[in-house]
Amino acid sequence: MTYKIALVPGDGIGPEIIADAREVLEKTAEKFGHDFKFSEYDAGGSAIDKHRMPLPQETIDGCLASDSVLLGAVGGPKWDGMPGDLRPEKAILGLRKELGLYTNLRPAKIQPALKDACILRPDIAERGFDIMIVRELTGGIYFGERGRNETGDSAYDTERYSAYEIERNARNAFEIARKRKGHVTSVEKSNVLESSRLWKETVHKLHESEYPDVTLDDMYVDNAAMQIVRDPSFFDVIVTSNMFGDILSDEASQVTGSIGLLASASLGDSKRGLYEPIHGSAPDIAGTGLANPIAAILSAAMMLRYSFDLAEEADCIENAVNTVLEAGWRTKDIAAPGAEEWLTGSEMKEKILDEI
Ligand code: NAD
Repeated sequence: MTYKIALVPGDGIGPEIIADAREVLEKTAEKFGHDFKFSEYDAGGSAIDKHRMPLPQETIDGCLASDSVLLGAVGGPKWDGMPGDLRPEKAILGLRKELGLYTNLRPAKIQPALKDACILRPDIAERGFDIMIVRELTGGIYFGERGRNETGDSAYDTERYSAYEIERNARNAFEIARKRKGHVTSVEKSNVLESSRLWKETVHKLHESEYPDVTLDDMYVDNAAMQIVRDPSFFDVIVTSNMFGDILSDEASQVTGSIGLLASASLGDSKRGLYEPIHGSAPDIAGTGLANPIAAILSAAMMLRYSFDLAEEADCIENAVNTVLEAGWRTKDIAAPGAEEWLTGSEMKEKILDEI
């Protein structure tokens, strides 16, 4: 099969890790007989330098013409003082809007070889976990009506959801669960909030009419936050609102202890998604060879799984990463404290390529 992939390397370590992920995709394409056609586009600080704007029209057009988008990271101290519209992160918000993306996927998974880094009790870490948090991205309290009274000493924010917004996110969650263990937990606060009662009602209606093969349960957000530290292996897919998802996805990724290895995706109605590592542009190590490419490589694997339905190819990349970590190879960021030897990012990529 032929797929058009837009690469948006961005700033800092972005270009290094995206170049590594591209090599892994090329090797995977060769192994499975696919043709991946790559085009590169500017975004973030480097686009401000070249085009005087963080998200040039050419980048938007190129991404819209592609089957999917792989992004490195944007930002850095050089552009910290820029005015609002010229800030590098505008590129990510703009791309999400232009590509019509409204669901964010954040996996939190223990790599078996790195279970010692997990901050939970050893017996729980040993059990392992693999959670996909499906977060609504464009609605809820972050985008609701807000304000202050005349004297400024009282303020309000509004959580508002339509059944349409809830349903389209829940549909993405059920579809993803079908490619995983088939278990969705809908997280809300329906004992208190009316918007959560609509959330629960809408998720159940969709479940009954279109996804009876998937197991669905409900959990209040406070219980979900506790469950993540008590026994996260309970979860497969969590679907939740913008604010609850923001908090739970950071909690879940922190407990893995290896946030440098985590990928993410944003999806909409079409198969086209925006895939990126959860870490930033790490300007402190850009150009030193220390950038760990694994989160970018796993983002590429997610793209194959969710945008192209290439499960075997995605498994192949994820297994290659696991094998290399199981063999004890580490970059500096995931090396044991006090370790004196580690691989450069490029050496890590070579080890992964050898396993594909
Ligand atoms: P960061 O994730 O870039 O870095 C935090 C720490 O982790 C640093 O010590 C860095 O060296 C290390 N690190 C991050 N990724 C690594 C990797 N792949 N390999 C090895 N070490 C790695 O977060 P920050 O320092 O808060 O932000 C730096 C810049 O990135 C800022 O301009 C910020 O706005 C931007 N940022 C961008 C995104 C994005 O593009 N999605 C996300 C977060 C931060």
